[in-house]
Amino acid sequence: MQEESRVENFTIPRFEKIPFLVHGFGTRYWKEKDFKKHSKLKNFKLLSLAQIHSNIVQYIEKYHDKEVKGDAMLTDRSLILLFIKTADCLPVLIVDESRKVIAAVHCGWKGTSKRVLQKAVQGMQISYGCNAISLLVAFGPSIGRDCYEVGKDVYKNFEEAGLSTEVFRDHPLRKEKHLLDLKQANRSQLLSSGIREQNIFSIDLCTHCEKYLLSFRRDKNNAGRMLSYIGISF
Ligand SMILES: [Zn+2]
Repeated sequence: MQEESRVENFTIPRFEKIPFLVHGFGTRYWKEKDFKKHSKLKNFKLLSLAQIHSNIVQYIEKYHDKEVKGDAMLTDRSLILLFIKTADCLPVLIVDESRKVIAAVHCGWKGTSKRVLQKAVQGMQISYGCNAISLLVAFGPSIGRDCYEVGKDVYKNFEEAGLSTEVFRDHPLRKEKHLLDLKQANRSQLLSSGIREQNIFSIDLCTHCEKYLLSFRRDKNNAGRMLSYIGISF
């Protein structure tokens, strides 16, 4: 029998090479109080959003302690730790190494159908002068393509938004259901925004399959949320 993993968070090796950057995708063992215990993170002020499955992008120019509504945060300021809360949805972290700009984005199916990730990339380009080809993007753990059952309404929603429906498969057993590849749907949006394929990194773990991750589909209202974070140290 395999021993349950006690890993607290996952990181992306390419992101670790960036001297000014801190980042991570927390598992069920990483709680908000852990930010204060970690030597590299303890000086940061924590900032998150009241996430509403929208495509609202918040531009963070200074720290504030109230949670504003939205599903993407962008900043070029140091010592503000942006964090996203998820349980099955896809957390996405973005960095422009040369311009020192970061983003954290919450992508569920609704936000994805509203192109929240594309909107965040556009915000980095328009407001901070970032170039799409120099952006590095990290996908955290999310519900996997074999586990993410959705109804016909979700399929229709993508179709009406003019998004590719190739990210859906018919459910092998249930006629009224589809399986959605949420990571692929967001990867497509990045590629059509001019992000290079080799600059997209991914933690390919399924929140629904792995017990040390949190899954709303599996655990319902007891699920809690995993914390994914990114910040500029200096
Ligand atoms: Zn799974």
